[in-house]
Amino acid sequence: MDRIYLDNAATTPLSEEVIDAMVGVMKTNYGNPSSTHSLGQEAKVLIENVRRQVADYLHASPSEIIFTSCGTESNNMIIKSCVNHLGVERIITSPMEHKCVAETVIDMKKRKGVEVVYLRPNRKGDHDLAELEAALKKSDKKTLVSLMHANNETGNFLDIKKVAALCKENNVLFHSDTVQSMAHMEMDFSEIPLDFASCSAHKFHGPKGSGFAFVRKASGLKGIITGGPQERSLRAGTENVCGIVGLGKALEIALNNLEKDILHIKDIKKYAVESLQNEIEGVSFNGRSAEEDGSLCTVLSVLLPFKDPMIGLKLDMKGIAISQGSACSSGAAKPSMVLMMLLDEEELEHSTPLRISFSHLTTKAEIDALLESLKEIAATFQIEKANSTHR
Ligand code: PLP
Repeated sequence: MDRIYLDNAATTPLSEEVIDAMVGVMKTNYGNPSSTHSLGQEAKVLIENVRRQVADYLHASPSEIIFTSCGTESNNMIIKSCVNHLGVERIITSPMEHKCVAETVIDMKKRKGVEVVYLRPNRKGDHDLAELEAALKKSDKKTLVSLMHANNETGNFLDIKKVAALCKENNVLFHSDTVQSMAHMEMDFSEIPLDFASCSAHKFHGPKGSGFAFVRKASGLKGIITGGPQERSLRAGTENVCGIVGLGKALEIALNNLEKDILHIKDIKKYAVESLQNEIEGVSFNGRSAEEDGSLCTVLSVLLPFKDPMIGLKLDMKGIAISQGSACSSGAAKPSMVLMMLLDEEELEHSTPLRISFSHLTTKAEIDALLESLKEIAATFQIEKANSTHR
């Protein structure tokens, strides 16, 4: 059975060229980048080349790129160090954040007594910047704003340029979880005055276990892992050379193909939206997911007009890998916090959320196959409904 992969917001398949680049490093460049001999220094050069490449992409300085193991680690490092080392006493955030931000913020509240202010998203998942501004002005406590760029469940975009400007005006630190949007669009941090951002290579056909934190120069941020002086002492531990090279290769491929891939993915998403609307009566879309400009093109959050908690399993048995919420919460019976914010009780009770997430590899034939399976599943509910009304 050919598998259909529609869970690219959870992770993406590695490109062949990325694998080849990584295998080359594993075979040849096994030196420790901290060693002074030539094998070590060759590995160091590989890392520094990727650092420069990432910095060029972000219009930042190489010294602002700190390689880490993943998006979760980057977000933890930034939030925890803001509290532990920069004197942050208040965090303004959203209930729509990924768990690695949400739980870290709660941890800082419990262990460090940090005050947490949650902005309330509207039914579309948007944040009111006037509410943010009022919150910024309300307290003299040293504050960090942590708001994600593109939501991993709905794809909803935050205007990070406006939020960064607002934070700067109010002398407040701004961190954005950019894990879903990095390498999926142009990013110019010389134009966006944010302080911190995060990235994970496995979201753009790079390896798992490799990411980075963007840390604005002279921010004073420190690491949370103590040990050697690697990564300017912000992230101790021998560097994951082949992971970093894999990240660099994946970024290079993503940027070389950006325009073409975005066009393709937008076309696939539009096709999926129209097909779902035509074939499944009563279907709707969560947040700004179905809007071309309001959301990341890789993510489509669907609400099916029947209740089927087993839908993920049923689709899996038909060879379709897809997520019901975010990957982290897909095993849980409870709807995700994001869906609880966007949907009312009636909708949560009688419908089934599904997150379809695309990549440049997704085809219209795969969307057709998903549609066929969804129609079969929907039909069983119509039969059940008809039988129950005749009883
Ligand atoms: N932030 C967002 C928005 C994500 O979607 C994810 C992964 O799903 C993460 C952070 C965590 O990234 P990682 O899997 O690299 O730890």
